Amino acid sequence: MTTKPTVAVLGTGIMGGAMARNIAAAGLPVRVWNRSREKADLLKDVAEVAGSVLEAVQGADVVLTMLWDTAAVAGVMEQARNHLAERTVWLQQSTVGIEGSARLASLAEDLVVIYVDAPVLGTRQPAEDGALVVLASGPPQARPLVQPVFDAIGSRTQWVGEKQEATRLKLVANAWVATCLEGIAESLALARDLGLEPMLFLEAVRGLAVDAPYVQSKGRAMLSGSFEPSFALSGALKDVDLILDAARQAGTDLALMPAVRKHFARAVDAGHGDLDMAATYLEH
Ligand code: NAP
Repeated sequence: MTTKPTVAVLGTGIMGGAMARNIAAAGLPVRVWNRSREKADLLKDVAEVAGSVLEAVQGADVVLTMLWDTAAVAGVMEQARNHLAERTVWLQQSTVGIEGSARLASLAEDLVVIYVDAPVLGTRQPAEDGALVVLASGPPQARPLVQPVFDAIGSRTQWVGEKQEATRLKLVANAWVATCLEGIAESLALARDLGLEPMLFLEAVRGLAVDAPYVQSKGRAMLSGSFEPSFALSGALKDVDLILDAARQAGTDLALMPAVRKHFARAVDAGHGDLDMAATYLEH
């Protein structure tokens, strides 16, 4: 068994770029490809920059996808058809939802590769720090090969089954993140509209059981207008739609998520989709 798998990283955006850098820093050979070449070029000091998907995947032990959505992932993996070694492990880390992960798992069968569903928790800074939490589902024989990658990008791996249970858990966790974020925006807006300095809310809850580093950091970003994206608002809206689809199929009556969707969509429609998700506050 390969102890240092060669990893092809397809998609070097905010998350994929940081993950590729940490995989290389852990001593694994890395090839990177990105649709807009300039983002892949930023990694040329640590990785081999491939001019095409084919060039990136040829001979790779692990193909890691960190692309925007199901359509992007499927389109890119189709370009690799007939050029993946049999038994290559496809490490699918983008957030694609239940239908998306089922579709991609079926594409993996068609491509005769081993599918590992491995979305991550954490955003730009944890990705840069190699401190993501990896949620992983896949066949036991793939685990030794992908573990060095998980150790490089994350502080912890949580294995949850062999199918696509990890994607389910990712949706559960993202439902919490979206609820929290919108809750912070609403309390700040309520404070402002009640004639209070909104910062008073953050000071009031500071250090209490209901506080969290997230409350303070996103709350301060909202108040200071710092919306450099860690995760774009349009991505948060994409994920809320994946959560609502999952809940609909499961028959779960979610009260908060439709309301969160309404506010995220309002801010996206106002032109804030490329800003950090904290920019939902701009339309409150
Ligand atoms: P990002 O910086 O916008 O990167 C998106 C990547 O997808 C880029 O490489 C982009 O290529 C590529 N892409 C988009 N459409 C494509 C297409 N049709 N064909 C080929 N490539 C395409 O986004 P990100 O924040 O890194 O997110 C990547 C994935 O991670 C998403 O599924 C997201 O939900 C998930 N995620 C994000 C975070 C976070 O906090 N940021 C956390 C956990 C999970 P170009 O550079 O050419 O546009």
